[in-house]
Amino acid sequence: MDNCIFCKIINKEIPKEFLYDSENVVAFLDINPSADIHILIVPKEHIGGIGDIESKHGRLLTEVYETVKKLVALNNLQDNLYRVVVNGGSAQHVPHLHFHLLGGNWKKMV
Ligand code: 5GP
Ligand code: ZN
Repeated sequence: MDNCIFCKIINKEIPKEFLYDSENVVAFLDINPSADIHILIVPKEHIGGIGDIESKHGRLLTEVYETVKKLVALNNLQDNLYRVVVNGGSAQHVPHLHFHLLGGNWKKMV
């Protein structure tokens, strides 16, 4: 989608080191971290937000959470040392569905 910063990152118009890169999902560090560990997990398909999720996205969302699991293990965040916040789809947010994995100082985050 034009003018979507995450689509530009996914299409490599903006250079970014990916922590995970599959056919359907990428993950990269948040540019302005709100926690010791702050990773964005982003579906490659431009889904605006939660309101745009349809049943056809079931497998994609499973891969998103499998990616979360991998990143949790890689960063030793098992045993509930993390939170996942899902954003997108409004003027206040980057309008491309994304999942924040927040770890470390998680007690400050709810
Ligand atoms: P939200 O839409 O979840 O409110 O905020 C978007 C998030 O994406 C913010 O945490 C912000 O720091 C991050 N972000 C915005 N632009 C970029 C970018 O160009 N690169 C990276 N790595 N993160 C970004
Ligand atoms: Zn997009």
